[in-house]
Amino acid sequence: MLFSQMYLPTLREKPAEAEVISHQLMMRAGMIRKLSSGVYSFLPLGVRSLRKMETIIREEMNRAGAQEVILPALQPAELWQESGRWEKYGRELFRLKDRHDHDYCLGPTHEEVITDLIRHEIRSYRQLPVNLYQIQTKFRDEIRPRFGLMRGREFGMKDGYSFDADESGAEDSYRQMFAAYTRIFERCGLKFKSVEADSGAIGGSFSHEFMVLAETGEDAILACPRCSYAANLERAVSAWQAAFDPGEGLRPRQKVPTPGHKTVEEVTRFLAIGPDRLVKTLLYQTPAGPTAILVRGDQEVNETKVLRVLGIDELALAEDALVERITGAPVGFAGAVGLSIPVWADETLKTLKNFVMGANEADHHLVDLNWEVDVPEPRWADLRQVKGGEPCPRCGTPLDTFRGIEVGHVFKLGDKYSRAMKAAYLDAQGQERLMIMGCYGIGVGRTVAAAIEQNHDGDGIVWPLALAPFQVIITPTEVESASETFRTARSLYDRFRAAGIEVLLDDRDERPGIKFKDADLIGIPLRVTVGPKGLKENIVELRPRADKTVQRVPVEQCLESVQAFIAREMEAKAQL
Ligand SMILES: [Zn+2]
Repeated sequence: MLFSQMYLPTLREKPAEAEVISHQLMMRAGMIRKLSSGVYSFLPLGVRSLRKMETIIREEMNRAGAQEVILPALQPAELWQESGRWEKYGRELFRLKDRHDHDYCLGPTHEEVITDLIRHEIRSYRQLPVNLYQIQTKFRDEIRPRFGLMRGREFGMKDGYSFDADESGAEDSYRQMFAAYTRIFERCGLKFKSVEADSGAIGGSFSHEFMVLAETGEDAILACPRCSYAANLERAVSAWQAAFDPGEGLRPRQKVPTPGHKTVEEVTRFLAIGPDRLVKTLLYQTPAGPTAILVRGDQEVNETKVLRVLGIDELALAEDALVERITGAPVGFAGAVGLSIPVWADETLKTLKNFVMGANEADHHLVDLNWEVDVPEPRWADLRQVKGGEPCPRCGTPLDTFRGIEVGHVFKLGDKYSRAMKAAYLDAQGQERLMIMGCYGIGVGRTVAAAIEQNHDGDGIVWPLALAPFQVIITPTEVESASETFRTARSLYDRFRAAGIEVLLDDRDERPGIKFKDADLIGIPLRVTVGPKGLKENIVELRPRADKTVQRVPVEQCLESVQAFIAREMEAKAQL
């Protein structure tokens, strides 16, 4: 492609509304433009990267035995009413009416549509398993669309669904999709982790998120450097246990004045104890009423774990007035002794002795408390936030922390939709059974954006070769068509194209400095610079975008060197 003919409007300045680097750089590199909040147009350069991502996905999905379909974005309300999600999905569902006053939505996902398709066709166990996928536009009326392609209202996704006769078949499908996803993100040349997103009751994990690692990522991840354990901060567990002295005798409890000392820091300093002796009592308002959660003074409550353990879907710290009503004391002096609401404690507190809690009385704490003796046994559960450096739950190695961006999710759905929508088949004995489903998603534009979050520098994007819109850019420093510089550049361009290399020739009549800046901004992995000075010695310069080292090669060897570079980059899988 000739640069002069490409619709590639780059921007010098960072667009004001772009908060994250991928959004800024995709705007500046002329890849996307905003139409309205959370809705973007893709320009030619953006489409090239997007298509590369889609091709990798297609190839790996097909290789894993999944087949491509295209399901409608416009979906009738009846299906969503059948699954119960018409009500449940809330305001994120884009709803509309047709001219006959029938309700429709723009699909944010396709479980209902695919289940409807399958239940009408599959009758027998002989027709199973089935694994179908699509690459489609999804709609979600985000309350606060932001971060460019990271959280849009209209976005491209690959979503896939498997239907199996039984649990073990569904687990096989899951494993195949997990393996396909691993290959997809490896082929993209991205550093990523697959993390446990939820642990099934039967021991194994049946939901994994694929996270592209980037310092700017929204999610924190804990991962073991030795075994394969990796989990979201929200779900991470560790083998950490509180150190305690088994020989320590139980002391009688006392109430001590702690005038004005409310925070962990204030109380522990005043009482001259470590924060590991203090038990924090946090009062939460839940749909089931107020609940107290206990964690050690140097630990934090993990609210996601609390939600799961209590089986509720919302939670908020109680307001001051409620705390005062429940404890009879101002905020800062709450404790579990004498509370008449349910009390849950983090299980690592079990071994604690002679500990300190608020006295439920202004300006007082209770010291030397012990379970059963002074404090009724609470309900125990894992409720605390795991920190980096704590031992891996599987092998004991200290866990590392990372930040990441979720780009893919594999999920074993079970019979949730097949039950609600009656997707059944007849087994070998003629018994009717529900199909067991799995669903598998990848954010296509989101992965491209995440690739930029992971790979950029002060000058612009640094594409991994697999997702780069072009593999090579040729930059002649003169564009006078009769000049030797331009003729050499043009001839290299023709030779590269004939060799199947994706090449952009910067034939614009611009100063070299401007061309170099644009090449760095759009992040083409290899720049070939052709100038009169080098040509006097029959030399052109190769400069990889990633390390910016300049290699001088004779003109005749240029194609070979470029091919070697591409082969190297394609082979180098992102390793962790
Ligand atoms: Zn481990």
